[in-house]
Amino acid sequence: MKKIFISLTMLLCLATNVFAQQTPKYVFYFIGDGMGVNQVNGTETYLAATEGRIGIKPLTFADFPYTAFVTTYSSSNGVTDSAAGGTALATGEKTYNGCLGLLPDSITPVTSVAVWAQEAGAAVGVTTSVSVDHATPASFYAHQSDRGKYYEVGKDLIASKFDFFAGSDFLKPTKKDSNEPSLYVQAENAGYTIARGYKDYQKKSKKAERMIMFQTEAASKIDRASIPYAIDRKKGDMTLQEITRAAINFLYKKNPDKFFLMVEGGKIDWACHANDAATVFEEVIDMDDAVRVAYEFYCQHPDETLIVISADHETGGIGLGNGDYTQHNELLKYQQKSAPEFSAHLKSLRAKLGDKKFTYDVVRKALTEYFGFWKAVKLSEYQEDQLQRAYDNMMEGKDKSAKSMYADESALGNLAKSILNRNAKLGWTSGAHTNGYVPIFAIGAGAESFHGRINNTDIPKIIGKVAKYK
Ligand SMILES: [Zn+2]
Repeated sequence: MKKIFISLTMLLCLATNVFAQQTPKYVFYFIGDGMGVNQVNGTETYLAATEGRIGIKPLTFADFPYTAFVTTYSSSNGVTDSAAGGTALATGEKTYNGCLGLLPDSITPVTSVAVWAQEAGAAVGVTTSVSVDHATPASFYAHQSDRGKYYEVGKDLIASKFDFFAGSDFLKPTKKDSNEPSLYVQAENAGYTIARGYKDYQKKSKKAERMIMFQTEAASKIDRASIPYAIDRKKGDMTLQEITRAAINFLYKKNPDKFFLMVEGGKIDWACHANDAATVFEEVIDMDDAVRVAYEFYCQHPDETLIVISADHETGGIGLGNGDYTQHNELLKYQQKSAPEFSAHLKSLRAKLGDKKFTYDVVRKALTEYFGFWKAVKLSEYQEDQLQRAYDNMMEGKDKSAKSMYADESALGNLAKSILNRNAKLGWTSGAHTNGYVPIFAIGAGAESFHGRINNTDIPKIIGKVAKYK
């Protein structure tokens, strides 16, 4: 019923817009970090598989009427990083890997489509599910030769005077050996009101001139670098949907005639780096949920709204099929925690029970509960041996393969996720980015300008042109 409703609304929205070639007043630019063509196709295949059928169940954004392929190489590398990729998507200029908002000479600043929008009088928002100073959001406001200068990037954020920011937190709110007040204080001095979580946003937004919405301090204490993965979400965690909703609310209030909003689904990339397919697909679905908030806005303003969804690069080189012409994505639904969260769960179980009571049986139970192993997911003898060996290594403290605080537990968590991916018939070529095409999807005023094979640098230029920013 829900799907029918969505398709009907889409038809109605389209119908109003069919003859309109208008200038969009409201521009949404979604970036799925690491979201290549197969991340989208894989998610839709996964959604159909969970309904017990071969085929796809469409995501809202993948059903948008205008699509194209996008090339992503940077000025320095065949495979881009998020800084060069973000800079291309934001400014229309290629630069070298690691660089934010500067030409390849590492000196000449280039401005982004968000700045063009601001100069054209639009209210501007830049938001993400990771920290606000991370490469993709930073590409829209920062000018730094090295993306790792998080404190300096934070200062660029404050200097941008954009109206709304949201993300997990600042990564480096203070500078070592410096008397400068923290970035929080600097932001407040520059006229920003800081909210901690969606409820706090609702409380403070009425009186705020400019805003930054972070997750709660308690959540940042656990992980300041990002909001939790959708697959691991607990009640009270900030979501990308809330971020999108708050941004629209704030920007529309600030300027009912014109706004520009960038929303990044930043952790699709992180889960792809980890080759953790269930977590990836849930993250893509989660970004689609955020797109749906923008889509509802579009339905109220179909002739004046443009929604664009694209990506900075593909991550992981995910392959849908690994040999025998079958797909078993339905198995992924039995994964109930991301690999790192499962590893953390093992670690806390071990700490709670003590080594003596932390038997292989306990681990097997956890694997059944969170990965469906031995019940819905059948394992080969070899896979059973692998798991048993990983457990033995963990208990003997032999496995130092991962350098995290819970290296041993994480080796077992990684193995569990890899086995599930293999049995679902998914392959990965890399733990890093690839040069695969990324897709672009668009709907609304000016959307017809996105077609064919384009360069990542074309996207902001097209947005700037159709929205008449320049
Ligand atoms: Zn990226």
